[in-house]
Amino acid sequence: MTLYSPPLRHIGFVLHEVMDVERTLAALPPYAGVDRALIDRVATEAGAFAARVLAPTRMSGDRGCRLIDGRVLLPPGHVEAYRAFVDTGWAGLACEEGHGGQGLPMLLHSVLLEVLNSANPAWSMFPGIAHGAYDCLRAHASDELKARYLPPIASGKWTTSMCLTEAQAGSDLGLVRTKAEPAAGGAYQISGAKIFISGGDHDAAENIVHLVLARTPDAPAGTRGLSLFLVPRRLPQGDGLNPAINGISVVGLEHKMGIRASATCALQFEGALGWLIGEAGGGLACMFVMMNAARLGVGLQALGASELAYQYSLDYARQRRQGRVGTSGDAQPLLVHGDIRRMLLTQKAWTEGARLLSYWLAIQLDIENAHPDAAQRAEAALALSMLTPVAKAFLSDNALEVASLAVQIYGGHGYIVEHGVEQMLRDVRVFSLYEGSNGIQALDLLGRKVLADGGQKLQLLLTRMLQTVEVVGSSVTIAAMSAQLAALIAALQELLRSGLPGATSVGAVAAHFLRALGHAVMAWRFIEAAQRAPLSDAGRSCVATAEFYFAQLFPESFYRLAAMRGGEGCLALPDEVLFADD
Ligand SMILES: Cc1cc2nc3c(=O)[nH]c(=O)nc-3n(C[C@H](O)[C@H](O)[C@H](O)COP(=O)(O)OP(=O)(O)OC[C@H]3O[C@@H](n4cnc5c(N)ncnc54)[C@H](O)[C@@H]3O)c2cc1C
Repeated sequence: MTLYSPPLRHIGFVLHEVMDVERTLAALPPYAGVDRALIDRVATEAGAFAARVLAPTRMSGDRGCRLIDGRVLLPPGHVEAYRAFVDTGWAGLACEEGHGGQGLPMLLHSVLLEVLNSANPAWSMFPGIAHGAYDCLRAHASDELKARYLPPIASGKWTTSMCLTEAQAGSDLGLVRTKAEPAAGGAYQISGAKIFISGGDHDAAENIVHLVLARTPDAPAGTRGLSLFLVPRRLPQGDGLNPAINGISVVGLEHKMGIRASATCALQFEGALGWLIGEAGGGLACMFVMMNAARLGVGLQALGASELAYQYSLDYARQRRQGRVGTSGDAQPLLVHGDIRRMLLTQKAWTEGARLLSYWLAIQLDIENAHPDAAQRAEAALALSMLTPVAKAFLSDNALEVASLAVQIYGGHGYIVEHGVEQMLRDVRVFSLYEGSNGIQALDLLGRKVLADGGQKLQLLLTRMLQTVEVVGSSVTIAAMSAQLAALIAALQELLRSGLPGATSVGAVAAHFLRALGHAVMAWRFIEAAQRAPLSDAGRSCVATAEFYFAQLFPESFYRLAAMRGGEGCLALPDEVLFADD
């Protein structure tokens, strides 16, 4: 079978038929010239790069990285793929032209990230992290740092890393201990131990720019005492600070369940020279630029991984013959069996729903950054703030189901390494864990974003969604879907009016709330797609997938709302009752 075939038909359908992106981009001055031909060319060429250069490296990359003499070596083919990526100009797709980038919208960067992640999710950590670092530095670094670091990051000549986690500081970054002592020339000396740093070291680029959370002397405890520093592996010439290699050593390389071609490093900073980004004590706020981009990026990782798992499953279900139907004497392809069709359609619905949602969020980023009308920018910002944790957690959990179904469709063969399907299940598992675990995303959504203003911002978003479904009326099928979504929105609105949990029980219900809201937005995107679907093959397929989604997956939302209303008392029982030893 082909390793990966870019789903250009569905990508084009979502971008043009459903979202009419050419018209939206025409209203954004920096992107006014981005027409349909350019959009399609970027999608086609990105897909070709992913399929031809990157996809062949996915399975061999599973052998993992090696730590030799203090340096990390990527698996075979990965350095060459990175060089090809840089040489063909993909790294700077959505970076400013002034930094040597191509100045294209985040929407196209998102298409690029989807196809790269289908082809090789471990390798794709490089461009995923780089763009967040680029945005963070562009927003918060001094002009001098920007001039020195943004061009090589935009070109991909230098890669980046995000250094937050320490052994004692995971979800709770307030526990970070790494220190930053003032040094000569306005620099700082950074000392401390970071773990789990993706791309913390490797042999693909000539320099690595680490963004490190650390504490200045006398900084208060907790997150308010954290500052962000730029700490390059190789010090640039002309600092007057001499050593070419900074004080950073790789003290370990994690051996992981999945994404093994991504180097997950333990780094020791020993008086490494770094430069403050933004204000002292404002580190977490700066880092959030990067973390928000990374969270939307995880949604795209989930989309890419789901697409690949679906493609493999469909191909296998067409080839593999087992079981007879009726009086036929010949074994039939798996594809004829109802249970296999159910699993394939579940994969297809989660995948296409992820694309509908991710691309819609991506264009909200462009609207937020570049729309001349402040009200439009504010509306986009609100949707992004509310739905970033949803995209991260809802889509990553769905992708895990899609990958697991791929193993199921392959049967016992799915459990055997050589098919490359069990690797998908291992690779996808981390999406629910990093960039803030899905439990933390749910707390962020319900605790910080919804409860903080008594649900008012979410009400605005739900009202906007309701307006879309209320104008529908074209077909019985779409009217039925709209009625189901309207019922969910009414239930969510009722919950916001009367039944929001108190602060103590947020943790017990937040995950249910996030999935219920995830369904509301995915259902909304499906309805809009079905409304606009042309009478083409893509259009008919879209309506059928939406119908399946509403019948078989969407009802989970009501179960989640029901679960929010019960069981809390059990969770609050004393440990000696719930977790008593025998
Ligand atoms: C492959 C990989 C790559 C990574 N890359 C990077 C990287 O590049 N840079 C970086 O800085 N870090 C990175 N990480 C670290 C990652 O972001 C953390 O693992 C993650 O934030 C969770 O922290 P933890 O592992 O310490 O889990 P913990 O914080 O110990 O959490 C354990 C469990 O408890 C739950 N939990 C924690 N606190 C609460 C709470 N207050 N309320 C309710 N539940 C809670 C969590 O949801 C989770 O289920 C990476 C991790 C992995 C596995």
